[in-house]
Amino acid sequence: MKELETIYESLKISPEVYDFGREVEALLAERFAQIDRVAEFNQMKVIGAMQKNRLSEMHFAASTGYGYNDLGRETLEAVYADIFHAEAALVRPQLTCGTHALTVALAANLRPGDELLSPVGKPYDTLEGVIGIRPSRGSLAEYGITYRQVDLLADGTFDYENIRRAIGEKTKMVTIQRSKGYQTRPTFSVAQIGELIAFVKEIKPELIVMVDNCFGEFVEVMEPSDVGADLCVGSLIKNPGGGLAPIGGYIVGRRDLIEECAYRLTAPGLGMEVGATLGLNQSFFQGLFLAPTVTAGALKGAVFAANVYEKLGFDVIPNGAEDRHDIIQSVVLRSPEAVIAFCEGIQAAAPVDSYVTPEPWAMPGYHSDVIMAAGAFVQGSSIELSADAPIEPPYAVYFQGGLTWYHAKLGILMSLQKLFEKNLIQL
Ligand SMILES: *Cc1c(COP(=O)(O)O)cnc(C)c1O
Repeated sequence: MKELETIYESLKISPEVYDFGREVEALLAERFAQIDRVAEFNQMKVIGAMQKNRLSEMHFAASTGYGYNDLGRETLEAVYADIFHAEAALVRPQLTCGTHALTVALAANLRPGDELLSPVGKPYDTLEGVIGIRPSRGSLAEYGITYRQVDLLADGTFDYENIRRAIGEKTKMVTIQRSKGYQTRPTFSVAQIGELIAFVKEIKPELIVMVDNCFGEFVEVMEPSDVGADLCVGSLIKNPGGGLAPIGGYIVGRRDLIEECAYRLTAPGLGMEVGATLGLNQSFFQGLFLAPTVTAGALKGAVFAANVYEKLGFDVIPNGAEDRHDIIQSVVLRSPEAVIAFCEGIQAAAPVDSYVTPEPWAMPGYHSDVIMAAGAFVQGSSIELSADAPIEPPYAVYFQGGLTWYHAKLGILMSLQKLFEKNLIQL
């Protein structure tokens, strides 16, 4: 379609870049069709849960103050529980982010003297402070909760032998991070997580297994709670918020454990009964309704980027052909100039703040300068198209999101455009 090329040109995508993108996209039809089938399944799963719980307009009403008898909140939690095939859910704007939801799940279900085990290596950066791997005020370590870790084997698989050895008398909880986050290990499939859960529970059936599900929701037709996870935790400004949730986190799982989480989030004796939703319920429901297709758009963007940059000779993780278990894509660009150009492209493609030029800076908590590109409707939302990279070898950029496939595509074409204009790639 001629108009398509023309409108991309009006957005400053040159014909060379447009044609290169079109060639890559043409080879991805079957991949995209598979992503669409998963989205279709998950869309039906979400609609089914909303119908079963008789969602209606009254559930969008705002509660204030204590938030007693917030029917919308209770229905939202019932819908989440059904989608995840779990007994109960805690889905709240008072869960301020993913790290907070994970902290609540851990702190609520561990007691002094208990041990937490990560059988999948180092957890996400912010969790190091929560657990006390990096000494932090208020960490689990300060409350006498110990931590043990078994690293993955060199090929990224589970070290079953050492996991068996690490499970002892004190081991109370196991934490499994599904997404690689900002590491280079592979992301685990739900099936792999299921195997690991079966293994640890065979050794000690009373273990509580929590899965950090961030960035993984709706990527597959199953969730970790379908394969034995007792708790599944994530952020609403990632996949399940569908771009519309302006804040929030969720914890789904066994009812007794969810109740512990509620007593920790609010107060002993109050639990799930309080927590006003201040008019956010509609955004939570509508975002959840959109989440399967939003996640599919982000996934297509990740697959497209992998294939575009692989074709240009860059290392990409995951590679262009691999199955996906989260929405994160990393591209090893090999030079600071290329990393900066890539991020400039993502920024220039944004609907919000497109005129801003991102620059590397010394962000607190990082040992090298970091560059971040995002132009989001919700601050910090990483289901919206965003990219970030530490300015250090091997000069890898991590990017994710895109509320629609077309926006993700524009972002990637624009990144290519910037690299092309600076003679950092040949097309
Ligand atoms: C995003 C993320 C978290 C939590 O991050 P927040 O920024 O606190 O929402 C935890 N684990 C993983 C794997 C993540 O991707």
